[in-house]
Amino acid sequence: MGSLESEKTVTGYAARDSSGHLSPYTYTLRNKGPEDVIVRVIYCGICHSDLVQMHNEMGMSNYPMVPGHEVVGVVTEIGSEVKKFKVGEHVGVGCIVGSCRSCSNCNGSMEQYCSKRIWTYNDVNHDGTPTQGGFASSMVVDQMFVVRIPENLPLEQAAPLLCAGVTVYSPMKHFGMTEPGKKCGILGLGGVGHMGVKIAKAFGLHVTVISSSDKKKEEALEVLGADAYLVSKDAEKMQEAAESLDYIMDTIPVAHPLEPYLALLKTNGKLVMLGVVPEPLHFVTPLLILGRRSIAGSFIGSMEETQETLDFCAEKKVSSMIEVVGLDYINTAMERLVKNDVRYRFVVDVAASNLDK
Ligand SMILES: [Zn+2]
Ligand SMILES: [Zn+2]
Repeated sequence: MGSLESEKTVTGYAARDSSGHLSPYTYTLRNKGPEDVIVRVIYCGICHSDLVQMHNEMGMSNYPMVPGHEVVGVVTEIGSEVKKFKVGEHVGVGCIVGSCRSCSNCNGSMEQYCSKRIWTYNDVNHDGTPTQGGFASSMVVDQMFVVRIPENLPLEQAAPLLCAGVTVYSPMKHFGMTEPGKKCGILGLGGVGHMGVKIAKAFGLHVTVISSSDKKKEEALEVLGADAYLVSKDAEKMQEAAESLDYIMDTIPVAHPLEPYLALLKTNGKLVMLGVVPEPLHFVTPLLILGRRSIAGSFIGSMEETQETLDFCAEKKVSSMIEVVGLDYINTAMERLVKNDVRYRFVVDVAASNLDK
């Protein structure tokens, strides 16, 4: 009855099977509740984990699946209890759109670690409907999982901050990696790694990019603003750099040895793992013990930290390196991302596609 009146049909780009091919798909948005906002999508970044989900690499994919969790848009409707946002405001949605709100993680502003978190897509809403992501004309999202885009931050620049940006910002804050002058290594220069360089520089750290080849050296130093570049295959230079770093942010999403990097850390140094590596990693304990080093992990960030990331990047004028593409290019963009052929994040101009027209 009344609920049917608010049902909205939208169009997105969905994968139908593990081939991951995306094509237009029309579906019904869940009904807007009192705490919900309806967001018309303007831009959505492409994250490496979109590929993982689309191709069912974790074995948990449900189709049709509209991916996309770096969503920037404008509020078009608000529920009766929404105080945080107004119609017409620019907002962002990241990797999660719900949590239990009562566990210790939720009560401690760490809802990203809630075991009942709801993923932005390939998950199920509280009302039983499937969640669908940002490669679509609109989304309905609980206001708690929506952040405000600061006015002086270009909208397309805001997109990568909602996953890649907060993924590096959160551990930097949590592990105290924000003291100017401290030395930070960034291992792997992809979407997350390049944000790591930018945000670490904005905190005033001395940043060394560590990469397997010197292919990205010039760009890392001259375009991204890193202070140093270390080729991990160059044994002599790695030896010279031993015990020189306070922190390393490890963004590599595939199996790799840890010893060469642990050896780069000073006493009390921390190696923070951000990439999802499904195989066991090996290291010998003296590399930790003889130097009181730690290996830690971190996963995206809380809603509070996501807002902080946006505000911080707006204030410090941190910009990401992006390639803006249309939805008609999305399958090609996905293929290029598989080959790591992007500097450094694709952002899809969803609004330009007029999906609902
Ligand atoms: Zn992501
Ligand atoms: Zn919880």
